[in-house]
Amino acid sequence: MGGAAVASSTLFGCATTASAARGRVVVVGGGYGGATAAKYIRMWSDGAIDVTLVEPDASFVSCPLSNLILGGSKTLADITVSYEGLVRNHGVKLVRDTANAVDVDARIVRLASGQQLRYDRLVLSPGIDVLSDKVPSLKSAEAQAQILHAWKAGPQTVALRRQLEAMPDGGVFAISIPVAPYRCPPGPYERACQAAWYFKRAKPRSKVLILDGNGDVTSKGPLFKKAWAEEYKGIVEYRPNYVLTDVDVATKTAKFDVQDNVTADVLNVIPPQGASAIARSAGVVTANDRWCDVDFLTFESVKVKNVHVLGDAIQIATGMPKSGHMANQHAKVCAAAVVALLAGEAPDPAPVLNNTCYSFITDKDVVHICSVHQYDREKKTLVPVQGAGGLSPQMSEVEGRYAFNWAKNIWADTLA
Ligand SMILES: Cc1cc2nc3c(=O)[nH]c(=O)nc-3n(C[C@H](O)[C@H](O)[C@H](O)COP(=O)(O)OP(=O)(O)OC[C@H]3O[C@@H](n4cnc5c(N)ncnc54)[C@H](O)[C@@H]3O)c2cc1C
Repeated sequence: MGGAAVASSTLFGCATTASAARGRVVVVGGGYGGATAAKYIRMWSDGAIDVTLVEPDASFVSCPLSNLILGGSKTLADITVSYEGLVRNHGVKLVRDTANAVDVDARIVRLASGQQLRYDRLVLSPGIDVLSDKVPSLKSAEAQAQILHAWKAGPQTVALRRQLEAMPDGGVFAISIPVAPYRCPPGPYERACQAAWYFKRAKPRSKVLILDGNGDVTSKGPLFKKAWAEEYKGIVEYRPNYVLTDVDVATKTAKFDVQDNVTADVLNVIPPQGASAIARSAGVVTANDRWCDVDFLTFESVKVKNVHVLGDAIQIATGMPKSGHMANQHAKVCAAAVVALLAGEAPDPAPVLNNTCYSFITDKDVVHICSVHQYDREKKTLVPVQGAGGLSPQMSEVEGRYAFNWAKNIWADTLA
């Protein structure tokens, strides 16, 4: 069930082109999309393509499993993986820096340090920026330090856990969810379960209030609702159509367009999101002023030649979640295409991608959703394959084991 495997058609495309490929690729962002692309371009070109990965963080920190830190069953160390494997095993040149600008005519990436990197092809997988400016009172760094999003795993995840630990028994933890699309559709509901799992044991009079900007649970709805009604009865309350307009930081009050204000002891606001800033600099933000449209055969921007975009930053195809698993799959299709294009060959005309997202209801009981997405030549997009994929019948410990193995496998597939 690890599911990080690439479609056979994509593998075949690479095997035929590896020896002829040459060139220089810069990858911006060492997350699920970028790290996978860097590794597979090196591997599938037999080391002939020079790959430089630009990433400011010292290590890879996984958002998948990060909600378990809020529940208290995992630590940040458990979800942190070294970049060393990419360098040692695959010859990826790792530059610990931030890409500040892209000159798409000169094909140069400018880094914060002043260094410039030339490319034949650029791969951007910078993830999301949380658009805190859409919540007026969250514009300042001081406000953002108090009302956390914890939607990029790392220090904020640990800080939010501390807020939950400091909350008195009988307190209210409120989670505000933005209108879709946002990173990881089931993630906020998993977070509610993890907080409830902690409260049930440590402070059973406390409540988790889900204030959803959407009209209904956006992923695995029946499974989450069953968990809230049975496993977390009296702890979790779900409220749809709560579109956040602002917050009062001092009183931890959330304000909505229609509904009454809600005051909480711990307020977790997940703001609306868009492709991270470097995508704007490269001129590839083309959809709703937030996301990047790509050609799904290559993940090349529809607007800017030689710039490919992966992961959460793209304008997704129908039924495609913004997930780490999906970003890994984007990366493999893109890597195969880049290797082919740099060898003067055509990319695979029929890529197939898959996705599996596990959600932890308790520390070990898990549910999943999965799907398969195939390129449709007429529609020129990826479409879900009817009858493939589906949902768990119920939560189980067996799926908990699958979920931990999925994480181990995808981290190895991405980074080792
Ligand atoms: C709480 C939570 C739970 C989740 N659970 C799951 C799950 O169970 N399964 C699943 O599949 N997905 C899950 N996801 C979603 C998953 O984390 C994302 O979809 C995935 O990380 C997207 O990959 P990416 O490469 O687009 O972005 P990221 O993985 O965020 O990587 C982006 C990288 O780019 C770097 N970067 C940004 N800008 C620059 C720049 N200018 N220069 C250099 N580097 C830059 C960042 O430092 C970062 O390392 C979860 C997300 C959250 C928040």
